[in-house]
Parts: sequence; C-alpha cells; structure tokens
Amino acid sequence: MRPFLYEALPMRVRFAEHAVESLPEELAAVGGTKAVVVTTPEQVALGERVNAILGAAGGGVYPRAVMHVPADAARAARAHIADVGADAVVCVGGGSTTGLGKAIALESDLPIIAVPTTYAGSEMTPIWGLTENSVKRTGRDPRVLPRAVVYDPTLTVGLPVAVSVTSGINAVAHAVEGLYAPDTSPMLSLMAAEGVATMLRSLPSVASDPTDLDGRSEALYAAWLCGAVLGATTMGLHHKLCHILGGTFDLPHAETHAVVLPYVMAFNLPAAPDAQAALVRATGSPSPARLVRETALQLGVPDSLAAIGMPEHGIGEVVRQAADAPYSNPRPVSKRDLTILLEAAYAGAALPDIATEETP
Ligand code: NAD
Repeated sequence: MRPFLYEALPMRVRFAEHAVESLPEELAAVGGTKAVVVTTPEQVALGERVNAILGAAGGGVYPRAVMHVPADAARAARAHIADVGADAVVCVGGGSTTGLGKAIALESDLPIIAVPTTYAGSEMTPIWGLTENSVKRTGRDPRVLPRAVVYDPTLTVGLPVAVSVTSGINAVAHAVEGLYAPDTSPMLSLMAAEGVATMLRSLPSVASDPTDLDGRSEALYAAWLCGAVLGATTMGLHHKLCHILGGTFDLPHAETHAVVLPYVMAFNLPAAPDAQAALVRATGSPSPARLVRETALQLGVPDSLAAIGMPEHGIGEVVRQAADAPYSNPRPVSKRDLTILLEAAYAGAALPDIATEETP
C-alpha cells in the first residue's frame, strides 16, 4: 500500500429514474427559494419542463449556454439572474451548460444544482473554464462545485448515440488518468476502475437501444464515478493534448478525447503498472488500450484526428505547445514521443505501431 492524501469534496448526489421530479426538495436543501434554469438553446423544452417542476420557485429558463463558456455570456447570465432576483441556479444539460453555471457561481456565490444530461462529468469537479479574446482560462475553485447533483437517466435517452459514445469515452479518459495521477488514492482507484469497466460495458447497450433505461442508468452511474475521479485528481498527458487540440483547431471536445485516449493509454500504461493492473482486473481485457480503441471503432467513433478535422501540418504546433506546458504524467514525454503519438492518432494507426502494454 502506498501512502496517500485523500481530501473528499462535498457531494450531494441523488441518482434515480425520474429524480428530476425531486428538484424542489433539492432546491430547499441548498437553501434556495427561486432558481433560474440554465440550459442550451437546443434543450429549451427540457428547461421549460424543469422550470415547471420547480413550481413557484421556478425563475424562468435562460437558454443561452454555449460551448467554451464565453466570459460575456457569463456576465450576461449573472445580470439576468440579478434582474430576476433568483437565489439559486439549476443547470440542465451537458458540460457546456454546467460550465456556464460554474462561471456564474465563480463570481456570485449562488448555489448551483446540476442536472447532467451527458457523461462529461463537469458537475463533479471544482474546475471552471472561461473564454475571452479566444483564450480559454481554466482554474479550480471550490465555490464552483455544484451544491447538489441530480442524475436522472430518463433525461439521457434522447442523447444521440454518437454523442453518447464519445461522451462516455470522454468519461473513461477522466478515470484512466485518475488511476495514474500523482494524487490518486485507493478509494479513487476503486471508483475509477469501476467507472471505466461499467462505461465500456454499457456503451454497446446504449448504442443498440438508446431508450433502454438499464443501459442508460449504467452509463450515467459510470459517468458519475469518472467525473468524481476527475474532480479529485490531477490529469496528465491525455487531457493536456485534448485541451491543446480543442483550443488550437476548434476540434469537437468529446470526439477528440475518444480518438486520442487509446493512443495515450498505449503510451502511458507501460509506465503505470498499478493503473494497468486495475484496468485489466476491472475490464477483464489483457489490453485496456485496445479495448477502448475497439469499443470506440465498433460504436462508430471517427478513427483518427484527420477524420475530425485536424490539419496535418498542426502536429508540430501541438508538440510545441505540449512540450512547453507543465503537466504531470507517469511517463516522461519527449518531443519525439509526442510526434510519434500524434502522427499515429492523426492517421488512425493501429496501436502496436506506437507502443504496446507488453513492451514498456
Ligand atoms: P455539451 O454540453 O457542449 O453538449 C453538446 C450538445 O448536446 C448541446 O447542444 C446540448 O444541448 C446537447 N445535449 C446535451 N444533453 C443532451 C441530451 N440528453 N439529449 C439531447 N441533446 C443533448 O457537451 P459535453 O460533452 O457534455 O460538454 C463538453 C464541455 O464540457 C467542454 O467544453 C468541456 O471542456 C467541458 N467539460 C468541463 C469539465 C470540467 O470539469 N470543468 C469536465 C468535462 C467537460
């Protein structure tokens, strides 16, 4: 047993089919009396439903969440909430919506209740992000952590299969990097391994019948576990690369994670034997990197960075940015390693072309 330091984040989590109906109780539990419902323009109907569930405590729907949380959007949302006189915010949607809620909390101290409808996991983390003048700043602040999280698998049945799969593998990425994080610990490792195995098991069910609530419940449960690991540990090479790829080429967030993850696993796991062993035990696969890659491809994830719009000439720029940025990783990463890894992910090369778990 290795020594560890574990600091628990405060978590109030309600998980059930139709848990969304309990929002009035959750609002009271966080001390709110009137909540604005934040969502995206695409999910306004769900926002209206949630506002109706809140009854007299519903402060109306604010359907202006967009990707990357523009700082202007956060300022406008705070002004709207002040005009309405609300004392709480309910965020219903994916990571972009939760992100706007966090940006509101960052400068207002209003309690946030998150109702996640994807598997991104942002609701479990104190990590915020804000984009201004094309630059995305991120940070950690306990004030942005939602005070309550309501997981309701019935709200996820409409998530398109392609988005469900990439979002699910995005969640797997959090848990994999949590397993070899410098601040990992035994309880987080259990959550991470269970999260990876459950997500990889449930995604084929979700893809074959997106309305099946058993599969949806499993996937959302896994997303909770993976998100909790993300919130409590320091991410490594994979998250660094995806952050750079998304920011530099405006690549889609979850697809980028889904393409890059198996390549980083194949590179990192030989240097992280405890993480590798935990993943082998939990998934039953001798090669978790290949399992992730095969699951992704079988479920229709694009096979390469080229397929999701990365320009080939961009590899050098990503290498430069990644080499300049400090991040923790179980294996030292040279510019040459980065180039080989990115060229493989760009082309969708077979995993043994860059590394195998058997040959550190
Ligand atoms: P998203 O929130 O951008 O949602 C994508 C689209 O799917 C939106 O149009 C949304 O309205 C729609 N959608 C969401 N749920 C749906 C449902 N159930 N049915 C139908 N449509 C639905 O995507 P995401 O992948 O959830 O979040 C990505 C963002 O979250 C990124 O910007 C990422 O940086 C951020 N993120 C942050 C953290 C953190 O800890 N701060 C963690 C993970 C992700």
